[in-house]
Amino acid sequence: MKFIWASDTHTGRVRENNEDAVHPQSDGYSTQPLLAAVADGLGGARYGEVASRIAIDTAVEARGRPWRRVRAANAAILETVLEQPQFVGMGTTLTLALLDPAGSIELGHVGDSRAYLLRDEEFRRLTVDHTHVQEEIEAGRLTEEAARTHPQRSYLTRALGFTQDLAVDIERSDLRLGDRVLFCSDGLTSMLTDLRIADILGDGPPSVTSWGLIEAANEAGGVDNVSVVVIAVTASTNPDDA
Ligand code: CA
Repeated sequence: MKFIWASDTHTGRVRENNEDAVHPQSDGYSTQPLLAAVADGLGGARYGEVASRIAIDTAVEARGRPWRRVRAANAAILETVLEQPQFVGMGTTLTLALLDPAGSIELGHVGDSRAYLLRDEEFRRLTVDHTHVQEEIEAGRLTEEAARTHPQRSYLTRALGFTQDLAVDIERSDLRLGDRVLFCSDGLTSMLTDLRIADILGDGPPSVTSWGLIEAANEAGGVDNVSVVVIAVTASTNPDDA
């Protein structure tokens, strides 16, 4: 089992800064365990892009299971705020996974960035959003479709940078040949339905579908920064076979 991946991040058509960050930052392939992540910085003028960059860099350098790396990223942001008070109020989401070529994926997740798994016709969300609207969905007071365009859809109930005692979601799944794994920021999922995302994701190798998702989000309005990491689980290392 091998991994072929592509990633892209774009400011979108409305915002002036891109506060998202992704890992890996360039396309590639590997037969080794792969770390993939997306972070969506919070705080606008309060340096959201600083928070998402610290989160990704710290999590990549840290050792151990994904949830430990997320906790390390959180501690690094809190430390930065303590040392440089101009950064007070910055925070970020972080959805990070370790993919093992033996056939598994383990996630550590906080916030409203997402991971998805596309297997044949089944498109499954691997993460649960830590948002107010998600709580409303679970309480039966809001539909998924209404939540997607809800004015308060970005109101997070959990994020990195605000408390030492951060709860990190852990999720695991098996991986099979032919699977596609997607990591994305809410700039994608607020613009496109899951159905549309699955359609684009399944239609070509990561180098094509990754940019295809960014373009579709921008065509749908591009109101937020949009970031994706697309990974094909394959038997070949030829990107055209993915
Ligand atoms: Ca966002």
